[in-house]
Amino acid sequence: AKRNGRDRYEHFSPEMDEAARKRCLVEMDLREAITQHQLRLYYQPITQGSQGEIVGYEALMRWHHPVKGLIMPLDFIPVAEETGLIHSLGAYALHEACREAASWPHDQSVAVNLSPMQFKNSALVTTVEAALKESGLAPHRLEVEITESVLLDNNMTNIHTLQKLKNLGVRIALDDFGTGYSSLSYLRSFPFDKIKIDKSFISDMQDSRESLAIIRAITGMSRSLDIQITAEGVENVEQFKRLQEEGCSLFQGYYFGRPQPSELLLRRDAP
Ligand code: C2E
Ligand code: CA
Ligand code: CA
Ligand code: CA
Repeated sequence: AKRNGRDRYEHFSPEMDEAARKRCLVEMDLREAITQHQLRLYYQPITQGSQGEIVGYEALMRWHHPVKGLIMPLDFIPVAEETGLIHSLGAYALHEACREAASWPHDQSVAVNLSPMQFKNSALVTTVEAALKESGLAPHRLEVEITESVLLDNNMTNIHTLQKLKNLGVRIALDDFGTGYSSLSYLRSFPFDKIKIDKSFISDMQDSRESLAIIRAITGMSRSLDIQITAEGVENVEQFKRLQEEGCSLFQGYYFGRPQPSELLLRRDAP
């Protein structure tokens, strides 16, 4: 869906001009949002095991627009990617997430989404290093989530960048797994620490034998490759139970908690 969102702006037709105008307005607003601190990270719990122990949070961006109210990422991330604003937005997310996580219990980590566009900036590794250094967060408590498109065409520059991040001690997760065209082959190009099964498979699993079979194949494979699996978009106890039976160990979804601003997080006392 993200890709379709972007394609909208890359072709010409009357409605597209409308879209282009709209994009231009969003761009102007977004520049201001960055300087006026209207962007905030919300945090969604990632849990482990049958007791739902919280092992970390994924940072998800929200835009608190002074007039339009709450704006969701799919309505501004594509514009940020197109205009290059994603670089400042992404740097903000890294710094902010590391700063917050540094005050959490030491066994909890934070996951930050990286846009494929951010890999076009040679300063990405430096930005991650700076965020870790400034916050004092132990590198293994930072996880970056990337999508397959980063590895498209076996992009060696990006693979090297990932390797540098991994050398810092940062963990690397492959997001939205199963939605791309040749998911399995990407596992050859880089030693991922974690795979996140796309939530479309989870929402389908009760009705679709195919989705369940794919989930089963992914968990089976992960055991032999020694990669952790997170099931995304877990919304009810039936899905949770079933996924446990299938051998998933990490879970994320509304069933465990929605993304929330950090001050609303229910957390254990620091050890
Ligand atoms: P994602 O990385 O796949 O993030 C998971 C999305 O699923 C989030 O949507 C989350 O709120 C939603 N979600 C979580 N649990 C459930 C559930 O049980 N059911 C359903 N239906 N949805 C659930 P959100 O926050 O709207 O973010 C959408 C996408 O925007 C993210 O997808 C990610 O690709 C992108 N995004 C968000 N924050 C950032 C950011 O800081 N930087 C970059 N580059 N992208 C971001
Ligand atoms: Ca993600
Ligand atoms: Ca995802
Ligand atoms: Ca996604």
